Amino acid sequence: MSLPDAIIIGAGIVGAACAERLSADGLRVLVLEADVAGSGATAAGMGHVVVMDDNEAEFALTRYSSDLWRARSAELPQRAEWEPVGTLWVASDAEEFEGARRKLAFYRERGLQAELLDEQSLHEAEPQLRPGLAGGLLIPEDAVTYPPPVAAWLLRQMQERGGELRQSVRVQAIAGDMVVLANGNQLQAPLIVLAAGAASVGLIPALPLQPRKGHLAITDRVPGFVRHQLVELGYLKSAHGSSLESVAFNVQPRATGQLLIGSSRQYGQTSAEINHGILSRMLQQAIGYLPGLAHLSILRTWTGFRAATPDKLPLIGPAPGHEHLWLATGHEGLGITTSLATGQLLADLVAGRPPAIDAAPYAPSRFADSFREEAARAGTV
Ligand SMILES: Cc1cc2nc3c(=O)[nH]c(=O)nc-3n(C[C@H](O)[C@H](O)[C@H](O)COP(=O)(O)OP(=O)(O)OC[C@H]3O[C@@H](n4cnc5c(N)ncnc54)[C@H](O)[C@@H]3O)c2cc1C
Repeated sequence: MSLPDAIIIGAGIVGAACAERLSADGLRVLVLEADVAGSGATAAGMGHVVVMDDNEAEFALTRYSSDLWRARSAELPQRAEWEPVGTLWVASDAEEFEGARRKLAFYRERGLQAELLDEQSLHEAEPQLRPGLAGGLLIPEDAVTYPPPVAAWLLRQMQERGGELRQSVRVQAIAGDMVVLANGNQLQAPLIVLAAGAASVGLIPALPLQPRKGHLAITDRVPGFVRHQLVELGYLKSAHGSSLESVAFNVQPRATGQLLIGSSRQYGQTSAEINHGILSRMLQQAIGYLPGLAHLSILRTWTGFRAATPDKLPLIGPAPGHEHLWLATGHEGLGITTSLATGQLLADLVAGRPPAIDAAPYAPSRFADSFREEAARAGTV
């Protein structure tokens, strides 16, 4: 390739989505991936495409992205295992059922389909759930997918438009419009997009990112055991709280008939090793909701790292103080869901087009202080 218009660092689902959209705008894109495309958090995650309501900005991004997913779902390769199973939020007691009612009102006011289920309807929807649960909230438009083939599909489109993917190529540093590779070679482009997930901070230390470790487990095949992505409403406390360590019931039916069981969240961990204490708490939590799980075999367990920002919103847009550098990182536990919107927003901003949703809440400039402090430390201001 002659000089690229854009270099993207990282071929996870976020980098792939940016590559696809930028190439659709006619840019010559070069994607550099230290490992294999789609092998980072993209391979470790759950692939739940879910509209969330923690705050308006999170809702806007997840809703927009979920719409983009559904609009393109017919084009996805079969290996992407796109299944519009819906999310069933499970309320274990009256307090959580009140939470379900509030969530219902929030979604309906914003035009998202949602249905409240009482105890009996919940049991009919998911007979494997333990009796005595208070009810649930069904979001029919949510879906599940297997993310690595989606990343590959997005990258293929970029390649068909003349773009290039280089794997096993680690970027060691970013300097102006240059990236320096681990082998010492340098590559140049007027636009550099950092989409290296939790590892992004290794290249730009000012990034307000912390790794948030998660464990997952997968069972053998039990087709029909559950029908929806099941999540406890208590999950919201765990996902959006800042406690150092938490587990929550989150079970997903896979196209293979397997069940993906999550999930845990831990700050302050950098080792990918399984923590058996956490794993066991996570499985006990799941068995508490689905007692029949205790009789199934777990085939594999693994961990992955979410890239968490202090306000739980991603960083999408120009990096303050870096003329050529743009960011597409910090997607925490929603990067599969929000990947397509991230690619579109970034391409719109680069092209100077007004995006479909307000991009300001995700602008890296909200952490400008952190970038200024880094520049001061480096003596560049
Ligand atoms: C346990 C768990 C469950 C999850 N469940 C869900 C879910 O159900 N729904 C959802 O929406 N999200 C979920 N997520 C979050 C989601 O997986 C991530 O937000 C998403 O995959 C982030 O994608 P990414 O492309 O930013 O990062 P990654 O997939 O990590 O990709 C970054 C890429 O950059 C490469 N890279 C790193 N450093 C360099 C370098 N120096 N040079 C070149 N390349 C480099 C890496 O090798 C990697 O391939 C989950 C995450 C975890 C850990």
